[in-house]
Parts: sequence; C-alpha cells; structure tokens
Amino acid sequence: MPKTLDLGSKNLLVGADVGGTNVKYVVLDAAGRRQVQDSIPTDPSDPAGTIARLAEVVGVREPAGVGLACAGIVSPATGFLGRSPNLPGWENSDLTGALQAAFSGVPTAVANDVNAALYGEFHHGAGRGCRHLVMIALGTGVGGGLLVDGKLVTGFADGAGEIGHMTLDPEGPPCTCGNRGCLESYCGSVGLVRRARELAGTDLATDAWKAMIAEHGSDLTPRHFAELAAAGDIVATVLFVEAGRRLGQAVASLVNVLAPDRVVIGGGVAQAGDLFLLPCRELVARHVMSEAGRGTPVVAAELGPFAAAMGAAALAAEAGAVT
Ligand SMILES: [Zn+2]
Repeated sequence: MPKTLDLGSKNLLVGADVGGTNVKYVVLDAAGRRQVQDSIPTDPSDPAGTIARLAEVVGVREPAGVGLACAGIVSPATGFLGRSPNLPGWENSDLTGALQAAFSGVPTAVANDVNAALYGEFHHGAGRGCRHLVMIALGTGVGGGLLVDGKLVTGFADGAGEIGHMTLDPEGPPCTCGNRGCLESYCGSVGLVRRARELAGTDLATDAWKAMIAEHGSDLTPRHFAELAAAGDIVATVLFVEAGRRLGQAVASLVNVLAPDRVVIGGGVAQAGDLFLLPCRELVARHVMSEAGRGTPVVAAELGPFAAAMGAAALAAEAGAVT
C-alpha cells in the first residue's frame, strides 16, 4: 500500500514539472491533497532563474520537501539533467543544485517527467495499491516508466523506460529516433497524424475525414480524430483500433517481462479511451504467457496534466523521510 505521507510539523510538499513552455506546480498537504495548482513560464535558457522564480511564486516557507520533474534524461543520483529534446537550453544543468539554492535546507528530489507521473499515479491515482506498475505516456512522443516493488527503475546510466522506442516492426514507419517501427512511430501524435493522412487517400475515407484533413493542415492533432471517432466515423475507428493493437503488442511484451499489477496509459492520446484501450487489452489477453497476466488491467491515468508535479512531490517526501 502507498505510504501515508508523514511530514511532521513542516507539512507542505512542493512538486513541479518543467516543460518546454511552462512549469506546472502543486502544493500538497500532509494528506496528499492539492492545496495549490498553477504554472509559471519556463525560461528556456535559465534553469536556475526559473527555479528561483518558482520558489518566489510558491511562497511556502520551509516546505517538507521539493520535487522537480523534467523532460529528458534526469539522474536522481547526481541531480543533473542530460539530453532533453524539449529543453535544450537546460541540458547538463544541475537541477538539484538549483533547487537547493532556491529552497535552502529543504529535502529535494529530481526525476524524469514520465517517471514522476508514474510515481504520482502510484501514490494518488490509477496505480494506488499496486507494487509493480508500467506507465506509457502517449503525447507528441511516447514516454515510459517502470515501477518494480514500489521503486522506480532508472537502470544503467538512467536509460530505462524508453518504451516508445521498443521495435514493433523493423520495416515499419520511420521514427523520430532514426529507426523504424518503434511504438512511438504508431502511437505518438506524429505517427497518428501521418496515418490519418494516409487513410484520407484510401477507399475507406469518409467525406468527414477528408474534410478534416483538408481543414487542418499542419495543426492536425489526434484530438480532431477523437472528435470524429466520438461521432462514429469509420476511419477514426480504424485508426484507433490499429494504434491500440500496436500499443497492445508493446504492453503484452512488457507484461511478459515484468508482470506488473497494472499498466497505466497516460497522455492526451489516451483520452480516446476504450476505442483505443479495448484493442490493446485484446492483444494482452492473447499474447501474454501467464494466465494471470492475460487479465492485467490496462487503465487510463487518473491525475491529468499535474501527475508529474504530484509525483515529484511524493518523491520529495521520501527524500525527506531518509535525511
Ligand atoms: Zn524510435
């Protein structure tokens, strides 16, 4: 069971999630309830300045802990951010050093954003009560996080969790990473938009689908397909079933390897809901070896866009508990 946050007299936790354009933050009370939830702009070239600004805006004197999630390769051990496609101006910066300068004397924790979101779901959301979890975050790219026996798995050189780059078909569509047929090339929004355009040129294409493709040029996103899917458009259904099956291939392999209690699917694309998750669950039911594993729940994330900030706060509570 998730631990009850025991914070003693200094009972507020701060968690923040740094994205390319803004920093989402929360202040949690001892029961893990969100007392504050807001955001400030990210300065793309000044990590220390952004974190100092965060401390000013949050205004909590002596919180019990401060956690920071960041997109990219984050080392919880050294506190440094490595490669970060969304935040190139923050690469090689000392996140822990900046946090400690801004919130002096307070326990701190840093984590990759998907790992933090997973930890948030573990403590407060769709992963409550579990010990072993897999999270897949479907957005522009596809991120992943693994939790085994209640601990985040970061692996050698903090490289674990790149679920988006599991190869599903070496002859498949090109991926942003330079390879072909990665999960991301099917289920990331770039891959979904590519497939949406392809389907517009087939006999299957409905007038509504062709009109959507014509109306939205470069601003086409999976949200537009989800609207047509809700209206029962056959192409949208085909698109989400195809993508859901690809997701199911990846999830079935992960269940075979890790045997999690539950698999949590987050990110904007997951809002297509059962249209996307049902074909995924079917693949899991067919491709998982262990009989128990075939029924592994594949569920939508619950915490929404502040999941990583909440998870960062939970990680900071643990940092506080061991210092
Ligand atoms: Zn890839």
